[in-house]
Amino acid sequence: MLRVFVSVPPRRIQTGSWRYTEVSAVTEAIRGMKDITPDETPKWQFVERVFRQLVASYAYREIRMPVLEKTELFKRSIGEVTDIVEKEMYTFDDRNGDSLTLRPEGTAGCVRAGIERGLLHNQVQRLWYMGPMFRHERPQKGRYRQFHQLGVEVFGLAGPDIDAELILMTARFWEQLGVRDAVRLEINSLGTTEARAAYRDVLVEYFAAHQDALDADSQHRLHRNPLRILDSKNPDMQVLIAGAPKLTEHLDSESREHFARLCELLDAGNVAYRVNPRLVRGLDYYSRTVFEWITDQLGAQGTVCAGGRFDGLVDQLGGRATPASGFALGMERLVSVVGDHMVPGTDYLPHAYLVRIGASAEVRGLRLAEELRDELGELRLLSHCGGGSIKSQIKRADKSGAALALILGEDEAAAGTITVKYLREPRAQQVVEQDSLADFLRGEIREWQA
Ligand code: ATP
Ligand code: MG
Repeated sequence: MLRVFVSVPPRRIQTGSWRYTEVSAVTEAIRGMKDITPDETPKWQFVERVFRQLVASYAYREIRMPVLEKTELFKRSIGEVTDIVEKEMYTFDDRNGDSLTLRPEGTAGCVRAGIERGLLHNQVQRLWYMGPMFRHERPQKGRYRQFHQLGVEVFGLAGPDIDAELILMTARFWEQLGVRDAVRLEINSLGTTEARAAYRDVLVEYFAAHQDALDADSQHRLHRNPLRILDSKNPDMQVLIAGAPKLTEHLDSESREHFARLCELLDAGNVAYRVNPRLVRGLDYYSRTVFEWITDQLGAQGTVCAGGRFDGLVDQLGGRATPASGFALGMERLVSVVGDHMVPGTDYLPHAYLVRIGASAEVRGLRLAEELRDELGELRLLSHCGGGSIKSQIKRADKSGAALALILGEDEAAAGTITVKYLREPRAQQVVEQDSLADFLRGEIREWQA
């Protein structure tokens, strides 16, 4: 069979920083979904590690949910008239004809899991999760179609004390990541569902009186979900929005007290905040406390972490009424504000590179490498594969970033020794007995750590 291989350059024409014409090459990722390369993963791992320690220090427990859920779950929780449900979901019919959606956020799935697994009934749960989320948005810096969230949800606690705990937890996280000065906190209260319903009428009346000034999105939302108008990012709408009646003026007295107590607790915890009466959040399930941590370093994509209380959601999804509160933070945005200097730079480089020359050294080397790993849990050992001359293997060892080359030739294999060559220091090479190699390496690692 005659095969003709034609190499076709990707048909990609850059017209702006993120705007490309249709892309067809199979070697390109889906628009808005990006790889996290080995050079970038150390910073991700650092942030994830600090997060795991953080949640452990508050005694929260991890939950893992599937990335696919029934479409209906998101419609009923996030709300039909929201950006996410109207425009951003990756929804498809599976082979059974069921409508499924790649999760755009974690709360809905977490509540679903909590109800289904009986985690919420008469108990307090403090949970956390991390993982990919999917939204079909216009890709730009800090906004992707696959992105990653770290999230926390607490069930069974209604008071402002737990809201304060969540906010203090995030503040501690910024401290630990060295970004405390890069983010500021805004908080607000949305009141109860009933208070919001009353406010809704006031809001409709106000916006209806200014109908001509509403953009198409807001026209559409005026009667279906007027609160969403306050969320609009359209600059032309901002003056009108600024003049709208404030939700804080229509709060029920219990929510007012709840919010005042939260403010007191934040003061006691030394967390500075600004009350932003326009903060409503883009999802319908919130009630009472809402908050956002915002940075000025990422332009319009400034919200690094967002959360609040969602007391009605469990009930709304069919569980027994359970108060709940939580937050989610965007990894991509967070990683881009964390300074490179925070990340321990070289803890992924190998300590040693095992050079193996000849057939018998290959066999002995395979066993030796496993023995070393058995004895030295902290050792990062890269074993050469693919044969080649000593010169080419040493070259590879050098390129790997390893501190030492452990040379195992036919002579060493026969003599039960290994030749140790220092790749980063001007030190003479030494011959070490294979039997005492683990002790030798332990000493070297200790010296580097000191
Ligand atoms: P925004 O107002 O920026 O669209 P949002 O209100 O839609 O954010 P949430 O649904 O509350 O965001 O999600 C919580 C966090 O997840 C956000 O604060 C942000 O850090 C991150 N996030 C949300 N959407 C994206 C995205 N498309 N790409 C990257 N991160 C995102
Ligand atoms: Mg959004």
